[in-house]
Amino acid sequence: MTALTAPQLLERVLDGNRRWAEGSSERDLLGAPSDPLEHQPPVAVIGCSDARVPPAAVLGAAAGAIFTLRLPGHYVDIPVAAGLGFAMTTLGTRLAIVLAHEDCRAVDAAYTEYTTGAPPNLALAPLTGSLAAGLYRAGGAADVQEAIDVNARITAQNLITQCASLRQSIIDGNAQLAVMRYSPATRRVTVLEESVVPHAGAV
Ligand SMILES: [Zn+2]
Repeated sequence: MTALTAPQLLERVLDGNRRWAEGSSERDLLGAPSDPLEHQPPVAVIGCSDARVPPAAVLGAAAGAIFTLRLPGHYVDIPVAAGLGFAMTTLGTRLAIVLAHEDCRAVDAAYTEYTTGAPPNLALAPLTGSLAAGLYRAGGAADVQEAIDVNARITAQNLITQCASLRQSIIDGNAQLAVMRYSPATRRVTVLEESVVPHAGAV
């Protein structure tokens, strides 16, 4: 069987999300091995820790299909980038997805910190301070809804910057990085970016 390409994988996870939104329990292996001892996930998701947004479930994917990296606000740091690099170079992952979501409490706190200068949640402050700094560097956002999308695109750019194997695989045409926003209210994803490409000179 020929492995699914990144664009084919993107179509399949969008189909999977439609099934999830409709309440179907059908799950797609996305071409991953059906042997439960094999670990070759074709898709990686960099998502938020939010309990309402379990990546494999909302994308209708079976166990074994999606490699998952999750921190509040899908914050990217060196270990997250290393985990994605491992998936890209060792496990055969070809599609990476930043999975943002509406009503994100981490982005909400970061946006408050960006606008007021004070972190609203001291427990989350070390993380939201970094997200707030990202909003500042990106030129800010008009409201918290816009901040969610701005933060999602920042995550994608941070992955490209910090994960050399992702960057090189995209340049070589072997991988794709997509950005999506999930709505807990509708259970549907919206594609913000089908394919994020490194800026010229990023290598
Ligand atoms: Zn969140």
